[in-house]
This record gives sequence, C-alpha cells and structure tokens, in this order.
Amino acid sequence: MIIQPRTRGFICLTAHPDGALQSVKNQIEYVKSKGAIKNGPKKVLVIGASTGFGLSSRITAAFGSDAATVGVFFEKPASEGKMGTAGWYNSAAFEKEAHEAGLYAKSINGDAFSDDIKKQTIELIKKDLGQVDLVVYSLASPRRTHPKTGVAHSSVLKPIGNSYTNKTVDFHTGVVSDVTIAPVENEEDIPNTVAVMGGEDWKFWMEDLKEAGVLADGVQTVAYSYIGPELTFPIYRNGTIGQAKNDLEATVTVLNDLLKDLNGKSYVSVNKALVTQSSSAIPVVPLYISLLYKVMKAKGTHEGTIEQIQRLFADRLYTENGEVPLDEAGRIRVDDWEMAEDVQAEVDKLWKETTTENLSEISDIAGYRKEFFNLFGFEVDGIDYEKDANENVQVPSIEA
Ligand code: NAD
Repeated sequence: MIIQPRTRGFICLTAHPDGALQSVKNQIEYVKSKGAIKNGPKKVLVIGASTGFGLSSRITAAFGSDAATVGVFFEKPASEGKMGTAGWYNSAAFEKEAHEAGLYAKSINGDAFSDDIKKQTIELIKKDLGQVDLVVYSLASPRRTHPKTGVAHSSVLKPIGNSYTNKTVDFHTGVVSDVTIAPVENEEDIPNTVAVMGGEDWKFWMEDLKEAGVLADGVQTVAYSYIGPELTFPIYRNGTIGQAKNDLEATVTVLNDLLKDLNGKSYVSVNKALVTQSSSAIPVVPLYISLLYKVMKAKGTHEGTIEQIQRLFADRLYTENGEVPLDEAGRIRVDDWEMAEDVQAEVDKLWKETTTENLSEISDIAGYRKEFFNLFGFEVDGIDYEKDANENVQVPSIEA
C-alpha cells in the first residue's frame, strides 16, 4: 500500500517500514564509521529498545561492539488495514540488519513493567546468552500498571506549585503562542508520575535479573535522564517529570549496592534534548529544541540519538582506562554540548525574540519537523513514498 503520514497533534498514526529500515541503516553506518568501541559490551539487554535513545543504544552495542542484543519494547505489528507502529518497523529493520551481519538479536514485545515480560526476558537470556554484561533502561511511557499492586498509574507533565506561562510552538503550523500550564492539583499526580517514570521498575528489573543469575561479573547498567535549561525547569526538571527523574537518579545508589558483589556499576546518563516521540509531547520543549538545533548545527555540535549514544559508549561507559567521568552529583553528562554556556546564551537570546513571523528564520523548525516525521519513517532521504510498501513486515525473532 501507499503509506502517507497521518498526524494527530504530536502523534503520527502511520509509519513507513521502508523509511524505518533506511533510518536504522543510517544509524548503523554512523556507528560503523566511528570504529569499534574498545572493551565495549558483548551481551546486552535494552529495555525500551525500539525507538529513540533505546534503539540507538541497541544499534551502538551491536554495530559498535559486535554485541548480542535482547531488545524489549511495546509495539504493534500491522493488522487488518492498520500499519504497524514505528518501533515495530525499526525493530524489524534492526534484527534484519543484525542477522545479516551475523549478530545475535532477539526481541520481546510486551509490557516491560509486568513480571511476566521480565520472566520471559530472563528465560531468553538464560537459554541463549547465559548472562548479560550491560543493561540499558530506556523506557518512556505515559502509564504503568504496578506489577505488585495492580494499580494503574498515569504520569502527568505539570509544574509544581505555580502555574507556568511561556512560549510554545505548534510544530505543524509554525504558530508560536503563549501557553499557561496549571500546576498539579491532585496530590496523587506527583507519586503517580514517579511510579511511571521513576526508578522503581529499573530496580525491579535489576533485582530479578540478579536473582536469576543472568548478570555477568562486572555488569553495568545505565538509565537516561534530562536536566535542560532554566527556561524549561518549571515544566521539566522542577515539574512532575523532574520528580520522577530525581527518583531515577537516586536509584543509582540502590543499584550500586545491589550489584556490589558482582563488581557491577549503575549509572544515569543525562542526555541532550532531542526530537523523540516522548519529547514532542511536552509543551514548550519543541520550541526550545528548534532553537537549540539551530544554534548547535551552526556550531557543528549538533547530535542526534545515535551520535549521543555512540559518544556515551565510547567516551563515557567504555573508556580506555576504565574510568567513567561523572559530574558532582555522580551522573554521566552527554548533555555537555547542549548545556555549554555559549549555546545556552544564544538560545536564550533567540527565545526572547521568537515570534510566528520569524520562526523559520531564527529557529530550525524545519529540522524539527523533518526529524519528527523521520521518527515514523517519513521524509527519509532516498525513499520513494509514491511506491507501494509492504506494511506486513515481521520482526524475525517474534512469532506472528
Ligand atoms: P521513546 O518514546 O523514543 O522510546 C520509548 C521506548 O520505551 C520505546 O522502545 C517503547 O516501545 C518503550 N516502551 C514504552 N512503554 C513500554 C512498556 N510498557 N513496555 C515495554 N516497552 C515500553 O523515548 P526516548 O525519548 O528515547 O526516551 C527514553 C529515555 O530517555 C527516557 O527516560 C527519557 O526521559 C530519556 N531522555 C529523553 C530525552 C529526549 O529529549 N527525548 C532527553 C534526555 C533523556
């Protein structure tokens, strides 16, 4: 069928398998062009492996370090008259490329928050790999059903205390307007957001993996966080999601204790703001990203998820002397180029000047839009979108 993008707000309802395949190939080529990661991981579990930072982590492990990978995600294959999700097509593409390169790659599709998916993953690792030496935790979800209590928690993206007014952009139309976001009123919103995006599920995974004996001596685990500039603090770092990130970051100490007898280490990496399915849902952030891209591209420091994760592996997690550089709070920082003073000063200046009229000139809104569509396999260079595409692509390791 001919597949075209169909959007509703920040969601794209369709996805293109050929575009997804090309995007995955582009990421693989980038990782290969950087050369082998010395002392890189060999057997890797990626939780949240189908899109964004998780997909790039899986690609970097496989093609930068010849690692066998198990990927866990929650995606949908095509069904009558409906396309599969972008993450499904990405995973089909990843496995195809990995298998062709002679690399082990299997995937598990289901709710990573559940005990059942943890059990299935452990069984697969036991059967095929024995143990893993790296666990990447890269889930982003609006909901979590708690495996022990059965309670369904929903996260919210709200400021805490005061309402927050700032500029935002509708990236489809390019209209810049003021948005006011009311603070949390329901006192359950904060613990619910922490329950979804905080560190508890990461801890549950690591406890179960350890208990089953599938973590190798010297195992490392990493989860991803974000800080960003002061202008987004009310909606991000000081908002409900920031509380969840504080909780995730605090989990590092708990996991370091848990992994001590395995000589294992746990890390949070603070990554750069990038266009992903999750970040496009946060008000204000898309406008910030459009300005950030403009400034960083002009300076030659712009990175996408694959550049970020390749740098995380090569220059942080697997350094030649084995030391992992951390900030004063014990976190890995690959948002260093985003947070550079000159970058932030320029973004700040542009932020104040931005209007609907000058948006396309002073921001990289065009780049934002293209990347948004790229996430779903659209507007990928080299793909003929007038051509019939087969939407019934399978992920080879998942039985239909
Ligand atoms: P994303 O939406 O691209 O990816 C989310 C992944 O989680 C997908 O693979 C999806 O299938 C999986 N997933 C969601 N719910 C699941 C469930 N119930 N069971 C199994 N899999 C599930 O998100 P992303 O932007 O790559 O975010 C990953 C992490 O990186 C998050 O912790 C996010 O906060 C963090 N981060 C994002 C940015 C950014 O700008 N996008 C910046 C810094 C840090």
